[in-house]
Amino acid sequence: MKSTVNIIGSGFSSLAASCYLAKAGYNVTIFEKNKTIGGRARQLLKNGFTFDIGPTWYWMPDVFERFFSDFDKKPSDYYTLEKLSPAYSVYFGENDFITIEDTLEKIKKAFEKEEKGSSKKLNKFINKAKSNYDIAIKDLVYNPGVSPLELITPATIKKINQFFSTIKKDVRKEFKNERLVKILEFPVLFLGAKPSDTPSFYSFMNYADFGLGTFHPKKGMYQVILAMESLAKELGVTINTNSPIEKIIVENGEAKGLVSNGKTYKSNIIVSGADYHHTETLLDKEFRQYSENYWEKKTFAPSSLLFYVGFDKKLINVNHHTLFFDVDFDVHAEAIYDNPKWPDNPLFYASFPSKTDSNSAPEGKEAGIFLIPLAPGLEDTPELRDLYFNKIISRFENLTSQNVKKDIIFKESFCLNDFIKDYNSYKGNAYGMANTLMQTAFLRPKLKSKLVTNLFFTGQLTVPGPGVPPSLISGKLVADLVTKHHSILV
Ligand SMILES: Cc1cc2nc3c(=O)[nH]c(=O)nc-3n(C[C@H](O)[C@H](O)[C@H](O)COP(=O)(O)OP(=O)(O)OC[C@H]3O[C@@H](n4cnc5c(N)ncnc54)[C@H](O)[C@@H]3O)c2cc1C
Repeated sequence: MKSTVNIIGSGFSSLAASCYLAKAGYNVTIFEKNKTIGGRARQLLKNGFTFDIGPTWYWMPDVFERFFSDFDKKPSDYYTLEKLSPAYSVYFGENDFITIEDTLEKIKKAFEKEEKGSSKKLNKFINKAKSNYDIAIKDLVYNPGVSPLELITPATIKKINQFFSTIKKDVRKEFKNERLVKILEFPVLFLGAKPSDTPSFYSFMNYADFGLGTFHPKKGMYQVILAMESLAKELGVTINTNSPIEKIIVENGEAKGLVSNGKTYKSNIIVSGADYHHTETLLDKEFRQYSENYWEKKTFAPSSLLFYVGFDKKLINVNHHTLFFDVDFDVHAEAIYDNPKWPDNPLFYASFPSKTDSNSAPEGKEAGIFLIPLAPGLEDTPELRDLYFNKIISRFENLTSQNVKKDIIFKESFCLNDFIKDYNSYKGNAYGMANTLMQTAFLRPKLKSKLVTNLFFTGQLTVPGPGVPPSLISGKLVADLVTKHHSILV
């Protein structure tokens, strides 16, 4: 009989792991607690509108191509990808915004308009960011985080100083204009930490932004989940939804199986793509590697308050992706990381996928997704959600010079309590654990359990970190470790 692998969860990392393991010859079964697959990247369908519940930015298309090419496929075998033009816009005040176009040349022109001499500096900054991107992809992110030696290559040694400076310092050294500073600090927010806590080396995210561009899969990010589901099924993976795992059974330091809906499912190997902290609670205490104190001390990426809104008309003065940075970045960041509380004046992000994709909303209507980053662990009540919706929607009306409140057909919200209920997320985090210097590579929670020989972890809490591309990579890394440690029984 073939060796069997049971996988907990059906997010990007679990689906990726399932494909690699099935290709390697294992008999793979996925157990997902929710009624639909995709984890944080699920989809909301309502009144003819389609919303991505989680990720909306498709960055680093090369990572998706590499994933599919490992199976002799291309993204275009499954979904249609479009480069957004413009990529996004950023509001700083009423009717005051900068549009980020789809090529570096155009972006340089926009920068030069804001600050004389900045286009040259941007060129230099992005060249360095590109070199970091190439090194990150070639030498770093595809490592399993087992040893510090993984970080030491001839290319990285030359960049060592960039691990001891921060994005914030680097950006401010070159650019004086506060608006340009905010735009250049924005991409690392995807890594879950403040720019002042993110090593300079992560400027590779700026290359992903300005150098590679922002893409959109037609019909939304969920198409990527559906593509991976098709691929997994082609490779023979079985996917069980409505199957919450209640326990991981361990005997003599070896995982024997999973319990779901009261039934035991035996396997030779277990991989969990559910949040790391939660997975450990499925084990008896003696088999948990990390204490509550360990998790308590970690810097988690933010949680979010999200709204999915159907508008009864087309909106003006917004793009597919629109950022609202008209308030103090640092004060909001303090309310997330230093002194956790609901921010008085939140910055927020909005996506209007129906601006470029007619599949997202019925004709003449607009689909809007609004996101406010919040500290994990905060109180979450219907009253707070309403209060903050009213705050941002009033600001939105002023900033974009239009009335929209009376055109809202419906709004659905998603916040900390939902992250906990739907994903078993630690303190309701949205994007896992931040990529600070002390939480990078081999310093992150490990892919392989030290206490249970055949138990493995994948996903945004382990290596390489938060985001869709890293989750795809994490699935590959864990599959490589499994195949290295456990030969296939036939
Ligand atoms: C609001 C939001 C916006 C984001 N925006 C972007 C973006 O624009 N671009 C980008 O690249 N990234 C973005 N991200 C990050 C990205 O979505 C995540 O990094 C990625 O989807 C995480 O995948 P994962 O497989 O690690 O975890 P998850 O998607 O969380 O998958 C874990 C799965 O395990 C399941 N599970 C949990 N407990 C159990 C159990 N006991 N039994 C069975 N199943 C269980 C969960 O239901 C879930 O399906 C965003 C995330 C959020 C939340």
